Amino acid sequence: MLVLVANLGSTSFKYRLFRMDENGGNDIAKGGYERVTDYAAVIEDALATLQRDGIIGSPDEIDAVGFKTVLGKDLSGCVIADQKVIDALEGFTAVAPAHNPPYAAGIRQFEKSLPKARLVALFETAFYQWISAASAHYAIPRAWRDIGIRRYGFHGASHKFIAERSAELCDRTDVAEIVRRLYLDGPQPVSGSALRVISCHLGGSSSVTGILNGVAIGTSMGFSPQSGLPQNNRVGDLDSGALPYAMRTLGISLDEAERQLTKESGLLGLSGVSNDIRDINAAAAQGNADAQLAIDALVHSIRHWIGAFNFELGGLDALVFTAGIGENGSDLRAAVCKNLEGFGILLDPDKNSACRASEAMISDDDSLVKIMVIPANEELVLAREVFRKLS
Ligand code: ADP
Repeated sequence: MLVLVANLGSTSFKYRLFRMDENGGNDIAKGGYERVTDYAAVIEDALATLQRDGIIGSPDEIDAVGFKTVLGKDLSGCVIADQKVIDALEGFTAVAPAHNPPYAAGIRQFEKSLPKARLVALFETAFYQWISAASAHYAIPRAWRDIGIRRYGFHGASHKFIAERSAELCDRTDVAEIVRRLYLDGPQPVSGSALRVISCHLGGSSSVTGILNGVAIGTSMGFSPQSGLPQNNRVGDLDSGALPYAMRTLGISLDEAERQLTKESGLLGLSGVSNDIRDINAAAAQGNADAQLAIDALVHSIRHWIGAFNFELGGLDALVFTAGIGENGSDLRAAVCKNLEGFGILLDPDKNSACRASEAMISDDDSLVKIMVIPANEELVLAREVFRKLS
């Protein structure tokens, strides 16, 4: 099955073409466009390029297109991308303004450009369909709940991949199989002992998810991708009382407050240096106290969520780091794991510093908890889910 994974940003279009079968799959082509103003033109150009390069004989050979949609109103999961997906995306444009409109436009365009292909949407919220009501709900008035305000969670494709791969690395093929079939069969009981995993997706945007027997029990991200850990330039969790106070005291409008919370906050806001942890690390090494504060606040928040899920899971079997910072940031991993021996979390400093952007077990042999680095591969995850959905 030929699966095209379409990654649509507010001004970009990237794609990867995968050949998938029961044994997995590989990407056979990829490409992308920046400063996109016309999705129709770049999608047509991408299909023409694949044909001209001899990757496909004709666009009709593409069996399916996968979309990593972010947040839908009253809709989640891995679903056929039809009008109801477009309606769900448009229903929450105000919550995910950078992500939802391009995906709605992209789905519409692929319906025209590839009329024979099956279109599949995998919502980033899909992995959190089974979190408890207590974990999902904020203490807000009924009317706020009725308009869809609750915890949704994001980075679902990444955390689900970690759930599957960490289970394999813990020799729990039973749990890995539950994860593989999760969107087809739902959560399943395990016969052996429980498998308890905490997944830390630390990148441009970051989240921590607790996973029991392959199913998410909770996550640091809430209603919008603005929440949870400090993000690159997005605020993360903020006391709701701070918003009206800042607006009134600084004399700024709601739009301006929103802009500052999404563009000038997070690691950038705290450090005053950059939204990239590499620049912040360099500044901190030169003695910049605000840069050090940004790193410390990120580490503090990661540990806060690890602590919460460790407690909720009743202990831990594996702690996993993934995405740009999680895969590359050995100093940050060491800071996160510091002084946690009492919880059975013991890092091997040499294995940790040797590991960069590759799969590795970085715990000490005496650590009760396996500490792992697993590279993220969200496009492959999407291609796999599309293949499973359509097979
Ligand atoms: P996104 O969430 O945008 O997909 P990534 O998962 O690619 O992002 O992560 C991007 C982040 O990874 C960057 O902000 C950068 O801080 C961090 N990063 C990338 N390479 C390194 C590195 N060698 N060392 C530390 N951090 C890195």
